[in-house]
Amino acid sequence: MVNANCSICNQNILNINSAIFIPQFKIYICNTEHNNIIFGKPGRSVSDKIDKLRRDHRSKYKLHILSLIYTLFQENSLEMKNWKKGKYGEVLIGNKLNKLGLKHKIAVFHDLSLPGSNANIDHLLIIGNSVFIVDSKNYSGKVKILNNKKNTQVQTQLYIGNNEQKRLVEQALYIGNIAKMNFERFGLYPNIINFLCFNNWKEGVFEGNIEVNNIKIIGQNLKYLKRYLKKNKENIKPSNKLIAITLKLFPVKTKF
Ligand SMILES: [Zn+2]
Repeated sequence: MVNANCSICNQNILNINSAIFIPQFKIYICNTEHNNIIFGKPGRSVSDKIDKLRRDHRSKYKLHILSLIYTLFQENSLEMKNWKKGKYGEVLIGNKLNKLGLKHKIAVFHDLSLPGSNANIDHLLIIGNSVFIVDSKNYSGKVKILNNKKNTQVQTQLYIGNNEQKRLVEQALYIGNIAKMNFERFGLYPNIINFLCFNNWKEGVFEGNIEVNNIKIIGQNLKYLKRYLKKNKENIKPSNKLIAITLKLFPVKTKF
């Protein structure tokens, strides 16, 4: 008898002959149907950052008579407000993705570590044999795509309201590339699709196949994903192997 646990449901594997073994990672997957395929909690890293800010602050001003005023000041500081806004966005999108995940039985992951980087993956979906990486952003305004002509080249740029958001696209590209490298290190080449999701999308352009530098731009209604799931409904059952490998490569963040 082999003492092994399924890397998806953690149950002890009784019959090793019916389990799948992935030698690169030395992991097993049991042969039961996995229904609970939501992993992690949206906004976990951001919550930890907020807690840490508060803790650092408390230890710094513990004996200070003005501690209360400082606390009030800090809770309303721009830094804290931005973190809270970010958390709100991640939780909102995360909950919507969970709902979609439960309905269509696709695998949904939240707040994953990204080895080789300080960044994290906000949300990741496994649909069939594809990996969808979603970076959620709390920005409000109308989404615009403008084609700027630079010399002879036309460059597509993302605008939210009147502000160009080149940095957000670059960040999503960076996360996608590091994730891809992590898979490739083990000779794995899944189809990876990168998304930038705005939780306060006020229409503007039609939320369809909007792409900037291969990053798909979507809004809080997740219309693109809903359409995709409907269109590909025969092929959305997530690959167990890909779920197990994702859990191994990008561990779910837990509270320290
Ligand atoms: Zn299992």
